Amino acid sequence: MTVAEVIPAAGIDTTCPYCGVGCGITAKPGGERQVSMVGDAEHPANFGRLCSKGAALPSTAGMEGRLLYPEIGGRRVSWSRAIRRVAGRFKEAIARHGPDSVAFYVSGQLLTEDYYAANKLMKGFIGSANIDTNSRLCMASAVAAHKQAFGADLVPGCYEDLDLADLVVFSGHNAAWTHPVLFRRMEAARAKKGQAWVVIDPRRTDTAEAADLHLALKPQTDVRLWNGLLAWLSEHGALDRDYIARHTVGFDAALTELARVDQSSAAVAADCDLSRSDVEAFYRRFTATPRVVSLFSQGANQSVQGVAKGLAVINAHLATGRVGKPGAAPFSITGQPNAMGGRETGGLSNTLTAHMDFNPADRDRVQRFWSAPRVAERPGLKAVDLFEAVGEGRIKALWIMATNPAVSMPDAARVRDALAACPFVVVSDIMARTDTSDFADVKLPALGWGEKDGTVTNSERRISRQRPLFAPPGEARADWRIVADVAQAMGHEEAFSWRNPAEVFREFARLTVFENQGRRVLDLGPLAAITKPAYDALRPVQWPITPEGIGAPRLFANGGFATPDGKARFIVAQAAGPARPPTPAFPFALNTGRVRDHWHTLTRTGLAPELCRHAPEPIIDIHPADAEVQGLKPGQLARLVTPFGEAVAPVRITDAQRPGDLFLPMHWTALFAPKGRSNGLIAGDVDPVSGQPELKHAPARISAYRETWRGFHISRQAMDAPDDFDLVWRRIPHEACQLHEFAGRGDEAERQAVIKALMGPSRGDVLTMDDASGSLRRAEFEHGRLSRLLFIAVGAARLPARDWLADRFADEAMDPAHRPFLLAGFAPGARDLGPVVCACRNVRARTIEDAIVAGAADLDTLGGDTGAGVTCGSCRPELTRMILQHGQETRDAA
Ligand code: SF4
Repeated sequence: MTVAEVIPAAGIDTTCPYCGVGCGITAKPGGERQVSMVGDAEHPANFGRLCSKGAALPSTAGMEGRLLYPEIGGRRVSWSRAIRRVAGRFKEAIARHGPDSVAFYVSGQLLTEDYYAANKLMKGFIGSANIDTNSRLCMASAVAAHKQAFGADLVPGCYEDLDLADLVVFSGHNAAWTHPVLFRRMEAARAKKGQAWVVIDPRRTDTAEAADLHLALKPQTDVRLWNGLLAWLSEHGALDRDYIARHTVGFDAALTELARVDQSSAAVAADCDLSRSDVEAFYRRFTATPRVVSLFSQGANQSVQGVAKGLAVINAHLATGRVGKPGAAPFSITGQPNAMGGRETGGLSNTLTAHMDFNPADRDRVQRFWSAPRVAERPGLKAVDLFEAVGEGRIKALWIMATNPAVSMPDAARVRDALAACPFVVVSDIMARTDTSDFADVKLPALGWGEKDGTVTNSERRISRQRPLFAPPGEARADWRIVADVAQAMGHEEAFSWRNPAEVFREFARLTVFENQGRRVLDLGPLAAITKPAYDALRPVQWPITPEGIGAPRLFANGGFATPDGKARFIVAQAAGPARPPTPAFPFALNTGRVRDHWHTLTRTGLAPELCRHAPEPIIDIHPADAEVQGLKPGQLARLVTPFGEAVAPVRITDAQRPGDLFLPMHWTALFAPKGRSNGLIAGDVDPVSGQPELKHAPARISAYRETWRGFHISRQAMDAPDDFDLVWRRIPHEACQLHEFAGRGDEAERQAVIKALMGPSRGDVLTMDDASGSLRRAEFEHGRLSRLLFIAVGAARLPARDWLADRFADEAMDPAHRPFLLAGFAPGARDLGPVVCACRNVRARTIEDAIVAGAADLDTLGGDTGAGVTCGSCRPELTRMILQHGQETRDAA
């Protein structure tokens, strides 16, 4: 479909590009890349709901920062020249050093068609399996657990199970922030029919706060807790003996393995640092509730025991026969919009494609289907190993598609060094500048959301269409098309001669059927001959698909696993701690993760100011007792050091953290907060089976940063931190300007040099206010409009709130009444409204507090009074907390 074709009056149905929920969207594009949109009321993933990130997509649909033309060495070139260069360098490396000397690193942002094309080129025509995806960082452990237990990477449940369950267990899953629309579904189920929630998470997240039971276990003790549950189920006669006998093998051996360790609830509680009564409360609830869904996500997967955690969850469900039944399933939730599509097409280096492996029969089958010259003989390098190989010079040419490993990989400093040393780096991306593309020899402009045309698969195996809303900008091309162009330039014209994404998808669907005969559950049979009009009109459908075109919401209620004997496997691993426990030198356990309104490395959500106001900058969470010992005050900058790197960020003191644990979010990059990056602090330790890194743990220490001065600079354009200064620098997008916060420890000479670098020669009318301490405030105007502000506070001097000042950049002309107050920071009567709580309606903390004080004692009233929480609902847990906190304060005061 092209955008030129008629836009239906009801709008174009497409899919959100963020998380694995895969929400449907109905969008109406307008001129100048404007788009109005609502949740697709008929899409089974969301039934019209969207979260704050999805709802803010129109803000990110502009052209800001886009890569529009191919570049070689930073200079614009023609597509034909860029393609020739990429194909030539890859061919040269393969000819001189063999197929394993090249690699692709791809992304869950790619569509299924893109993934399929890249896999076909690397695994079938280059003859190496050195293609891995950033999904390795999210859910490779769940994939391995599924394959070990079920025989294939299969999610047995569906989202409807979340409506039907009577108990939901969130294992390392802060659904309220990471999968908000599913969380809304569960909130609705809870309100309608009652549903208990148990959260297993060291942190008291918003999900944990809303739970009936929060097990704030010691980090990395999840396997111990779940193994204890399996032993409990056995001891308390809660097993489904018939299901175990008919559909599983290995149960007795599993019990024998469990018995090697004391599995009493007291022993489990002691090892997990939980109370025995809480552990037993969880076990009793699980035992007594047939309809239970256990969600597990990054908190479980990102561990050197990630596979064991997934298996431990699955074991409890197999033992009770709670698999693939309405409201009952172990349920891995993916982080990315098309992580599942990548898993289906072989995006992971240790799978072939269409759920086939590197055994002789599958290789032969794929080779014949593709008429490929040389299908890879063995699995390729997994992400951490892949970048290690790049650093060691074993990879001579690397192509990175739609991802930002210079930020997102663990031990990111080494990854940057590796990229710098790699002889040839290609980056396909929508953005002209990312931390990774700074290392690119060749940059290729790709299509982004609203331009892409293809399919994605969400966490419940549902295939949905992403459809174009806008014409491709500049010379940007679809990723599958770029791969096909390079493949053809490498001499594989016939095999990569697709004319549109429907042809790519049809070929993939045919491969799922090819010599399948019921052996592989991934079967897109009825789509194997899909026409282009049918592909363009495709409605969301779950696989496997019956000949009648009906999707299967659930799998395995009656066995039929993808193992040779059709039976699932019980596999028990003993609990082990993190790869690197805390030490006297690094006594804390650092955890990393997401914030509510941001996505990955800010390349997209960083364009939407409304998404940058709930968590404007990276913050280190620390327990009050630890903060006291370290002498840290709220908002003070702290230095966080691990054996691999260091970060500097303000602290938030909160008892949502366990004593001894720290948390730093993972989104910020060198472009937004050069010293606030988390993944450079993490070792490259991986689960030995899945290769997924332990991003949820690093030993750490923390201390006050002891800056001697602080400041902020507001300008219309984004600025990088000035070179050659030791500054803690953060950039925060606002509607009409960019706020740059910074602090330093240098002497006066350095401070003056920073001031000079930031302000340079004045270009217009300037207001200044300096004092003897060195503190200063400066406002600059051009053509009657505010153009720049610089505020610096030395020593104990204070800085004003920023919002009123930032809002002045939206003024068409400087209001004369405001001008005298600019250097004070706000006008009489103006009030700092605090951080944004509700991103959809831009409702801020003070407004909400005022409404609560005035009597809004429940969410509905608060929503009616302020508008907060009535759109996507992502802020509802925080609003609930504010209401409860006010009630507590009122009681305390009485
Ligand atoms: Fe997008 Fe939010 Fe839906 Fe995830 S939950 S797919 S981010 S709208």
